[in-house]
Amino acid sequence: QADAETFTFQAEVTQLLDLMAHSLYSNKEIFLRELISNASDAIDRSRFERLSRPDLGEDDAPPRIRVEYDKDARTITVADNGIGMSRAEVIDNIGTIARSGTAEFLRSLSGDRRGDAALIGQFGVGFYSAFVVADRVTLTTRRAGAAAAEGVRWSSDGKGEYTLEAVERAEPGTTIVLHLREGEEDLLNEHRLRSIIQKYSDHISVPIVLGAQGGSGADQAGGDSPVNQASALWTRPKNELTERDYHDFYRHITNDFSDPLAYLHAKVEGRYEYTLLLYIPSHAPYDLWMPQARRGVRLHVQRVFILEDDGRLLPRYLRFVRGVIDSADLPLNVSREMLQGSRAVDHIRSSAVKRVLRLLKDMADNEPDKYAEFWKQFGSVLKEGIADDPANREDIAELLRFTSTHSATQEADVSLHDYVDRMKEGQDKIYYLLAPTLAAATASPHLEAFRKKGIEVLLLSEAVDNWVVTGLLQEFGGKRLQSVAQGVPDFGDLADEAEKKEAEQASADYADLVGKLKEALAGKAWDVRVSSRLTTSPACIVANEADTELTLARRLRGSGLP
Ligand code: ADP
Ligand code: MG
Repeated sequence: QADAETFTFQAEVTQLLDLMAHSLYSNKEIFLRELISNASDAIDRSRFERLSRPDLGEDDAPPRIRVEYDKDARTITVADNGIGMSRAEVIDNIGTIARSGTAEFLRSLSGDRRGDAALIGQFGVGFYSAFVVADRVTLTTRRAGAAAAEGVRWSSDGKGEYTLEAVERAEPGTTIVLHLREGEEDLLNEHRLRSIIQKYSDHISVPIVLGAQGGSGADQAGGDSPVNQASALWTRPKNELTERDYHDFYRHITNDFSDPLAYLHAKVEGRYEYTLLLYIPSHAPYDLWMPQARRGVRLHVQRVFILEDDGRLLPRYLRFVRGVIDSADLPLNVSREMLQGSRAVDHIRSSAVKRVLRLLKDMADNEPDKYAEFWKQFGSVLKEGIADDPANREDIAELLRFTSTHSATQEADVSLHDYVDRMKEGQDKIYYLLAPTLAAATASPHLEAFRKKGIEVLLLSEAVDNWVVTGLLQEFGGKRLQSVAQGVPDFGDLADEAEKKEAEQASADYADLVGKLKEALAGKAWDVRVSSRLTTSPACIVANEADTELTLARRLRGSGLP
């Protein structure tokens, strides 16, 4: 047997561990939720790998998570018969290098969230929460498919270093032993552990059994009956489930500590048979805008977890949706590649999209405050759908919210319907202004004439807005969208006779000056005109009708596109 080898954690991990030990005082008991959730993931992955790798052998031992406590040794043990880890995987997953969420987690612990351990799971560093209650953690593991001699033991006191050694391990899987800190003895108690498991892990679909080890206490061992429900929540009938059940399950699959804004649960039968349990979170995850952001929905086939979606089950613009899709039609050995072009998947996808959009529409109609919150968190993501999902463009357009010259606030709370309802007599266009920032939009001279006439203008200042106006095919509900910074401002029937006369007079009066300016700007400006679009600014630059919108042109230049 090889000697233990010592490794040093990266500074960021050490900082994280230090925090675990000294600063996280509320929701301490979530360490158990995190370890059980890892165990359950490991069992899911083992079931999945077995489908494609006969060499892993038959699934003889039924999947199980064991939680044990030992009063004499002052330990809590969490053991699973899941996929396990190789030595390299141990180093990668819980070893030297900080995982991507480490820094975000450290940053999130400010204000009223200071000291709250419950946040940890969402940042992908849940394993380390073991150090909230333990001053030494030992993890023994063996990868499924590896020889018994290829077991690995990882051990650390959370003070900057860990050791690794090779060990024999009869079964694949992982066992984690927590040596409790002074003062955490109350956890060595059957009743306490049972209630923690029921509180946080009831919806784990693998049975969790609880037992006592060692001399004292062993007599009151819990036996073999699972502490949790151990059934897949989404397979249960709706009328048996409470909002609390749904919320707990949401927390389990997302590691999000807050309740979701809304959810939908549908069992669909017919040509294809599938169940959807989809949630709209109440806040954006830290990695919503990162290219490798974790995906929202998990695909199950007949309750077996298959994979996490990477954009095939739900389109990218709904990547904030979390939840489970369980199909009865796909083969158990379905791969990512097979999802592409599968009729069942296409069907599920379009039905899931329609249902999510309907859920959002209901929220917008019936719970506008909630919807405003949704829009703040995910509006910019949903906007991508205007360009990405032509089939549902109209439904998405109804969900859009904009800032406009109508409201005094900077809130994006104006829908296209609101706008159209407020349109002036004779107005036939929806006016908008694209600008790099909201401040620039508000200060734009292009608005002057519209303000004077009391015509509302939508102020679009997000990068994605360019695609929104192009994607809307310049039209909503039969009304053309018109940039106020483009072409000759055409008020159509809104201009009265007197104004037209005045404009003609002005053109005549200033013909000389315009001629000189044209000469001076020859080759630089397309045209120079006397304009009625300004009321206080002396001059402004406008894009030619046919030209690319100026703001868009600036952005394209900035993005390095030709
Ligand atoms: P997350 O679960 O969000 O990935 P964690 O810090 O909880 O983050 O776990 C880190 C990684 O360690 C997991 O992604 C997994 O690869 C590995 N791991 C943790 N616990 C186990 C386990 N019981 N069995 C197998 N792998 C595990
Ligand atoms: Mg985890």
